[in-house]
Amino acid sequence: MNTLPTNQSNSLTSMDNKKISARGKSVLNSGEVALVGSGPGDAELLTIRAMRFIEQAEIAIYDRLVSEEILALLPENCERFYVGKEQAKHCVPQDRINEILVEEARAGKKVLRLKGGDPFIFGRGGEEAEYMLEHGVSCHICPGITAASGCTTYAGIPLTHRGVAQGCTFITGHIQNNGLLNLPWQSLCCPTQTVVFYMGINTLPIIAEKLVEHGRDINTPAALIRKGTQPEQKTYRGTIGNLAELVKKHNITPPTLIIIGDVVNQLTTEQLATPGFLDANNYTSQKTNQETKTCEQQVKTA
Ligand code: SAH
Repeated sequence: MNTLPTNQSNSLTSMDNKKISARGKSVLNSGEVALVGSGPGDAELLTIRAMRFIEQAEIAIYDRLVSEEILALLPENCERFYVGKEQAKHCVPQDRINEILVEEARAGKKVLRLKGGDPFIFGRGGEEAEYMLEHGVSCHICPGITAASGCTTYAGIPLTHRGVAQGCTFITGHIQNNGLLNLPWQSLCCPTQTVVFYMGINTLPIIAEKLVEHGRDINTPAALIRKGTQPEQKTYRGTIGNLAELVKKHNITPPTLIIIGDVVNQLTTEQLATPGFLDANNYTSQKTNQETKTCEQQVKTA
């Protein structure tokens, strides 16, 4: 039976490994794949389970969204295989990525499939797992903090807030193969619902137009978060009405998330000086006397 490596030299995990009673569950055997979410970039947001798989990897097959800081945690002798993708432009096509995973596992390696965020949220992790299972390769699955959660928290935006947002939707703004952006627009227009668009920066003008057309107030607070949780994190706050202008003005490129909803200004209207740290010394209350809204009261019928 395989055991975890004992020389935990890495400062991220060495601190209190002995205190973790679940030790032993995350053992990566030869010929298996670990499909691991690496979170939005900050290595401190890795789970302990993710870290354990990283430490055992003999080959790491990773995407563009996996940060340098996290790649630096791979064991020295671990082979690295970049299969990155930029939105739809895969540098290695998805079918080939699936084959590589199976080939490397069949060659008897301990394979780490490392993906940005969570593998099962806009990550095609389900497709990869399906392919591996169909080809007789067993696969550990390990969640990661998805961009919507990590980036908004580091920007000081609570995705839900009592009396302000009762729910939250994660949706893709990526154009479909037919060249259209067919989304359930009406369902994204409830004023007490936060909406987070992944892969939406290039279609932002359409997103803003459609939301307003279907009844969302043009003055609804909105934010763009680029490279969230990473040293380069930038947050731009505005409204649905001026987001497209912000993109032009600041030349904002992927990876960027779009957040729509009143929660955007709940805690701060500023770019946080230190992402992930709310400084009480700089706090100005953003509270307004808004009453709790409900969907039925607010959504205009299209
Ligand atoms: N599986 C990933 C999402 C992959 S889709 C996850 O769970 O987070 C890629 C899109 O995610 C990007 O276009 C961007 O919209 C968003 N994204 C991922 N990481 C991000 C980051 N650090 N900052 C901002 N957006 C990010």
